[in-house]
Amino acid sequence: MAAKYPFLDLGPVNAPYMDEITAAMERIVRGGRYVGGAEVEQLEANLCRLTGASHAVAVSNGLDALRLILRGYVELGALKPGDEVIVPANTYIASVLAITDAGLRPVLVDPEEATSNLDVERVAEALTPRTRAIMPVHLYGRVCWSEALAAIARDNNLLVVEDNAQAIGAVTPVAGLHGHHTTGALGHAAGFSFYPTKNIGAMGDAGAVTTSDAELARVVRALANYGGDRRYHNVYCGFNCRMDPLQAAVLNVKLPHIDEENELRRNLADIYLSGIDNPEVRLSQRPFTRGEHVYHQFVVHVADREAFTRHLDANGVGWDCHYAVPPHRQPCYADTLGRGAHLPVTEQLGDTCVSLPITRCTSVDDVAAIVGIINCFRNN
Ligand SMILES: *Cc1c(COP(=O)(O)O)cnc(C)c1O
Repeated sequence: MAAKYPFLDLGPVNAPYMDEITAAMERIVRGGRYVGGAEVEQLEANLCRLTGASHAVAVSNGLDALRLILRGYVELGALKPGDEVIVPANTYIASVLAITDAGLRPVLVDPEEATSNLDVERVAEALTPRTRAIMPVHLYGRVCWSEALAAIARDNNLLVVEDNAQAIGAVTPVAGLHGHHTTGALGHAAGFSFYPTKNIGAMGDAGAVTTSDAELARVVRALANYGGDRRYHNVYCGFNCRMDPLQAAVLNVKLPHIDEENELRRNLADIYLSGIDNPEVRLSQRPFTRGEHVYHQFVVHVADREAFTRHLDANGVGWDCHYAVPPHRQPCYADTLGRGAHLPVTEQLGDTCVSLPITRCTSVDDVAAIVGIINCFRNN
């Protein structure tokens, strides 16, 4: 039986944009330019305007965005194989894949339980003479940034590469390294994902890199285009990681509505946060300012997840887990990152997390009903 309150239904999420998207796609088909071109350039300009970063490069997906940034720093000599990159242990595996792909060493640190984001004290403890970078992940849409984190980066000369796959449009009161306040311009470079389920999703895979470092932008753009700086002139052993203009056209339709999309999620989150009242269900700490969270996911923690999700199933509430098995427990890293790992907070968050419906396909009344269902949950 289909859930009465589906976790996510992408059709209704895109329905408000359908006419504009089909018109934009038709323009591309008729125009005859199917790689690069005006829509891609327009999207890059839109991302610069949104974040305050001076450069944006539209790429194939979020993982490639992060891979290109790290490979770019390796090509520039700013990072060397074997250098350590501090990353939260409870992130989506793509953050870690990008680090190992570039020949760098991920140093996994346990997050704060209250926010699921990087714990700055543990970041400080994880520093070694080989630490060269930090990858803050704005997990679930909550900005991972603070004076203390910025100070660690500055004092230790670390590159800061934001994984901004989940927090496009989030704003923090604490200035980034170059004075900006929007995710994507807090550190030295950032990777974005426009995977269809993200707050701004394409009709397939797409991603982007933003940076205010002109050299890095140049190398990333070249790497994404076979390593060439112009036609038939290859400076690097690159890849083909370009964004299709069809995807750029879709994103140019949706990106101007980013604040409205994020506000819609915040309003649903407010109903969950003020309504859920059940000692079995732990909520994340509220952000200090409203702009700091764009609720890519609304995640609660329940000790007996089995019983809780059975209760949700029985009442027609869709759910998911982000993420039940952390990267160091995945088969590909079990013998390396997993060996001897002591990451109790990550393991506990993975064992207890449950994501609830929070998209355009969920109405205010739906969330109120889900809150009622959650408050009836009894673990016995
Ligand atoms: C989605 C996501 C990615 C990867 O993006 P893709 O476009 O799916 O490759 C990376 N990091 C995080 C935190 C993500 O949520």
